Amino acid sequence: MWPIAYGKPTGLAIRRADSYGAGHHGAPRGTRVHDGADYNSTPGQQVKAPLSEVISKISRPYSSGVDAMALSGVEIVASDGTKCWVWYIQPSVDIVGTVVKAGSSIIGIAKTLKNRYKNGITDHVHVRIHTRTGTKVNPAIVIK
Ligand SMILES: [Zn+2]
Repeated sequence: MWPIAYGKPTGLAIRRADSYGAGHHGAPRGTRVHDGADYNSTPGQQVKAPLSEVISKISRPYSSGVDAMALSGVEIVASDGTKCWVWYIQPSVDIVGTVVKAGSSIIGIAKTLKNRYKNGITDHVHVRIHTRTGTKVNPAIVIK
């Protein structure tokens, strides 16, 4: 359909270090590393698609705990098989199956993380990108 294209989800910068860590790809998370990039958000703001093509499913970051149902997300699949997950949003109604354009189509509304992580967390949306074969992509490299 459309060429592979990327766009900014919130228009804001990547999360700097707070009490829970930094938002760049590869930032330490205990024994693991951060597998995406966190874009600062203002709760209630409209969030745009970071990748063009089809919203394939709803993707929920948490199955339990505070705000597990409120903190949701989407998976976007591009025509070359690139996949992108966007978390910590309230997806737009009936968005699954729709075609979105990177940087312009609204996919949902940013949610606060402060109920789950308490004070010290910087509100953000988490963006994770994999190639068709599952190789991790640093979102900051492709989202300009
Ligand atoms: Zn993150």
